[in-house]
Amino acid sequence: MLESLLLNFLILLLPVLAYLIFFEDRFYQYVLRMPVVVLLAAISMVLSMSFPIHLESGFIFDLRLIPLIMVALYGGYKYAFILYLVLISYRCLIIGGDGSIQAFLYNTALFPFITLWSNKFRQLEPRSRICLAGVIAFFSILFYLITLAPQIPLNQEFWLLVIHSLTTYFFMTIILMFLIEKIIANVKAREAFLHTERFHIISELSASVAHEIRNPLTVTNGFLQLLRESNEIPQKEKEYIHFSLQELNRAEQIVSDFLAFSKPQSENMVLSNFKEEVEYTKNILLPYAHMHHVEIQLSFKNSLLKKYDKNQIQQCLINLCKNGIEAMKEIGGTLMIAVSGRKNQIIIAIKDNGIGMTEDEISWLGKPYYSTKKHGTGLGMLMVYSTIHKMKGTIKVDSEKGKGTTFTLIIPV
Ligand code: ADP
Ligand code: MG
Repeated sequence: MLESLLLNFLILLLPVLAYLIFFEDRFYQYVLRMPVVVLLAAISMVLSMSFPIHLESGFIFDLRLIPLIMVALYGGYKYAFILYLVLISYRCLIIGGDGSIQAFLYNTALFPFITLWSNKFRQLEPRSRICLAGVIAFFSILFYLITLAPQIPLNQEFWLLVIHSLTTYFFMTIILMFLIEKIIANVKAREAFLHTERFHIISELSASVAHEIRNPLTVTNGFLQLLRESNEIPQKEKEYIHFSLQELNRAEQIVSDFLAFSKPQSENMVLSNFKEEVEYTKNILLPYAHMHHVEIQLSFKNSLLKKYDKNQIQQCLINLCKNGIEAMKEIGGTLMIAVSGRKNQIIIAIKDNGIGMTEDEISWLGKPYYSTKKHGTGLGMLMVYSTIHKMKGTIKVDSEKGKGTTFTLIIPV
């Protein structure tokens, strides 16, 4: 009994380990994640049906439902359906025998029950997810036992089966869920670390380069102004000096913008609730939005205050809203800007119903020069990420290809 229990535990652990060892890098994460998971789960399901747990009372049971439940919860009904087909075909066509029809009916009835939870499950916190999966596993096997009850005598052996299968299902699911959630948390932590590291380097670099360039620019500017005052230069040639000065000013402007990546300027710091900046952004982008048949809607419900660099926040919001408008320029639509305060966080959501992004594209956001636009610079999102990170805030991206995108900035107060 203990031996077969351990064997079954190993069988369930196998896909988790295999995933961790072979498939847990970036490429698989975005390209092959669910297909690989489904394949591994199918293997583990078939193995657990082939090596069931034998109880001393003569009953046998196996853990085939656990991979199905996990895939259904994490991946939704599409992926779960593949596993369901594997389960049914293996059970009815290959194992066969007396219980085939019952197994078919039971699993078919169970399928919608499990997949129904998927959406809710994915919105939960990790801890609640672990509990919910445990409870679903418990009730799934309970349902099986109830369908079994009318066909066999309800003697002591049967009750042993009930106790064993209920506890095994519940605890195995909890343990596996714990491992899976741990893997997910590790992956997220690593991504976050890479992100921060990237912005750290960029801001260090841009600060030093911008400072170095600014000095010679200022000196050149001074000498050119002196030249302009000179009486020995004919008026015609003074025009050249005028153009040079103009271009120099532009270069200085660019350098200042670049400096904006690095550190907040003390003269721009304000203690405020973002209202002015959001309204400024809306007003300045109205003509641009109009040109692309986009309407801008603003909802403001925040009374929390935060200290921030006014210019950087304006630039940040402009970059985000401009991207939203540009994502809708083929179809038009509505750009929603919503600011709200809750507990000790200010939440700014910017939502468009434009072209959207795949998970892969989302992971590229904020990389310098990443742009899918013809005249894009790929610096807009970099600026957004670096500014929000400096404020210890986080950025959440929800996007679906063809449906639209929501950027949520969560800024601690
Ligand atoms: P740019 O706008 O110059 O291309 P950004 O850094 O602002 O550079 O954006 C980088 C890329 O991210 C864009 O080219 C686009 O592919 C993608 N992107 C950003 N925001 C959105 C959005 N709201 N909808 C769809 N794609 C977006
Ligand atoms: Mg942009």
